[in-house]
Amino acid sequence: MFTSLAGRSVVVTGGSKGIGRGIATVFARAGARVLVTGRDEESLADACAKIGGETSYVIADVSRREDCDRMATTALERHGGIDVLCANAGIFPAARIDAMTADDLTAVMATNLNGTVFAVQACLDALTASGRGRVVVTSSITGPHTGYPGWSHYGASKAAQLGFVRTAALELAPRAITINAVLPGNIATEGLDGLGEDYLTAMAASVPQKRLGGVADIGNAALFFATEEASYITGQTLIVDGGQILPESLQALEEI
Ligand code: NAP
Repeated sequence: MFTSLAGRSVVVTGGSKGIGRGIATVFARAGARVLVTGRDEESLADACAKIGGETSYVIADVSRREDCDRMATTALERHGGIDVLCANAGIFPAARIDAMTADDLTAVMATNLNGTVFAVQACLDALTASGRGRVVVTSSITGPHTGYPGWSHYGASKAAQLGFVRTAALELAPRAITINAVLPGNIATEGLDGLGEDYLTAMAASVPQKRLGGVADIGNAALFFATEEASYITGQTLIVDGGQILPESLQALEEI
């Protein structure tokens, strides 16, 4: 049994939807006080109602350093500190290399990479004061381990997050802060609903477990990194993908 995280102050960026909402829900159910962020107030309010527990929101765009600073200040005001930062906010617009504009590239990096760095920077002093600070970054299998046409900029941003995590682990170690990354595979979120049943079935077929992951699968992995028992783990990655990256060929997948 892991030590309880009840009462811990947790910030989840991009907590209004999808995986972030799943992470926030897992922490809230563990008794943590959760602050979720996003850019759209209506979805933030809706998420807080659905998550329940001691959950509140602040509107903040992680690509803006001043918004991240305001997010950290809000957590300090409401919770008296920050114990856990889940840097989860991310975007994944598709653009093939031959059509990708400078703005396409900048937008993906601004949220996925800069947003991760800004969120960590903003929470750094509070995480240090916690004495058991934890950062959990939501990366992806796309980039660090796999590729998908149309997502070269996205994959680069997700791999870049891991480069940041590894050196951050060194710099944060003297502050007793750990930083690790969860790498989701294909996770069922409401954002995928619009893609249709055929697409979802095809995605599930590419996973050895023959099903998509749930947002709680990622939340549980993040929760583990936040426990006392995970205090000696830092700079690491945890793939949560139902075995998706393992088959070395289509035949290997078909022969299961
Ligand atoms: P999602 O359903 O689209 O949710 C993204 C969340 O991030 C929303 O709350 C969104 O709210 C917020 N967000 C986006 N840009 C933001 C910004 N600039 N500032 C603050 N918040 C922002 O996406 P998701 O599928 O849950 O993805 C969440 C994370 O998991 C991402 O980092 C993604 O790369 C990663 N991931 C997802 C999957 C998957 O299968 N779903 C797989 C691998 C990795 P607003 O739009 O209202 O701001």
